[in-house]
Amino acid sequence: MAEKKKNELKEKLFYKPGNGYDGLSAAEEKKMNAYCEGYKDFLNHGKTERLCVDYCIKLTKGKGFKEYKAGMKLKAGDKVYFNNRGKAIMLAVMGTEGLEKGINLTAAHTDAPRLDLKPNPLYEDAELAYLKTHHYGGIRKYQWLARTLELHGVVILKNGKSVEVNIGGDENDPQFIIEDLLPHLRKPSDEQVLDKAVPSEILNVLVGSRPIGDKEDSERVKMNILKILNEKYGLVEEDFISAELEVVPAGKARDVGFDRSLIAAYGHDDRVCAYAEMAGLFDAKNLKKTGVCIFADKEEIGSVGVTGMISEAFEWFIGDLCKTQKVDIRDCFANSFCVSADVTAAYDPNYAEVFEVRNDSKINHGVAFCKYTGHGGKGGASDASAEVVGKLRKLMNDNGVVWQMTQMGKNEQGGGGTVALDLANRNIDTIDAGVPVLAMHAPIETVAKFDCYMTYKCMKTVFEKA
Ligand code: MN
Ligand code: MN
Repeated sequence: MAEKKKNELKEKLFYKPGNGYDGLSAAEEKKMNAYCEGYKDFLNHGKTERLCVDYCIKLTKGKGFKEYKAGMKLKAGDKVYFNNRGKAIMLAVMGTEGLEKGINLTAAHTDAPRLDLKPNPLYEDAELAYLKTHHYGGIRKYQWLARTLELHGVVILKNGKSVEVNIGGDENDPQFIIEDLLPHLRKPSDEQVLDKAVPSEILNVLVGSRPIGDKEDSERVKMNILKILNEKYGLVEEDFISAELEVVPAGKARDVGFDRSLIAAYGHDDRVCAYAEMAGLFDAKNLKKTGVCIFADKEEIGSVGVTGMISEAFEWFIGDLCKTQKVDIRDCFANSFCVSADVTAAYDPNYAEVFEVRNDSKINHGVAFCKYTGHGGKGGASDASAEVVGKLRKLMNDNGVVWQMTQMGKNEQGGGGTVALDLANRNIDTIDAGVPVLAMHAPIETVAKFDCYMTYKCMKTVFEKA
């Protein structure tokens, strides 16, 4: 009897986060798996931020979205998208309430760590042709060696024409590679910190070895590469200067595990949240408040620039919507609610020493809310208020969404940032929420299907009910 009473007390008072599968019905699991197939397609089509925007626009077509034009008159239920230079996009579904009541925002980013070609990239050395790169975002350089790579982007030719380059994704395409040193030649002096062992300037992509022309000529391999590029794209060497070409890991998203419960792919950070908010907005019904979903660019280098979250392009679009309703954008922001949808570090038992097991997120425990990000004493975090955390927590509990809290490892271990503070600085109540990721920022990252699905349900609920 006494024992039973004690358990009742425990039941009543303890916080009991648990594995999401324990409450997942067979019908929901089926929906989860279908959702994740759509997500894998999104990843396979979206190897760069430009390709994510293209594919997003393609998906909006069947959903009644129109491209937004300045001053467009919109009524409740109307759906528009604003394409910011092909590299960032905002989707809006107009609610029945006026914009002075605020909007429900979800903001993810679709740029991902990668290698960008330098303006003068092509050279020949020892009869091999290479492209020089500059790494974009936080990478562990050694992870990019000895793995096959794809090349995607645009080149603006001398005549102003834009040509798109996509090589390596199709199974008949060639791919590229950055070589590692063979183990036989690793000297004891190489046993340094892994990242120091790989200086950024050796991230040179091998792109050819076949010479053409007379053997007296120089740079015959490079000449052949330029000849191929010229035949295919009309490109000459100077055109690299006005190009954005991104080197990304080759291969498609794949299920992982005998039970297929996980997905391994390039770019889960942060396309896993971008897809969740887009799908959430597509499926949300009867919006009272206008819902806006954002794919931001440049998050991995500080959200700066014309397509980053700090850009006034955000005010340009939301302000324009406000103008048509004669609403002051500041009133709209002051009453808005934002989920900064970004991934977080999932607890990894193999590296337990850097994690804080009581507070870091776990695989299969659902969408992870992050009150604060930042470094060393919350530096650079927007630190959501208790009220904002309370609002989201209640919303999820009331609507059957499995969620957990997260942070990023031990206090003095490291940290991270998101677009949360860029939205919060605009007087918008903001909290981070997203999918826990294993080996975040590695060329191939891993997430759990359950957490992907719960993040989608979180975003949909925010649009419908926040
Ligand atoms: Mn991110
Ligand atoms: Mn990141």
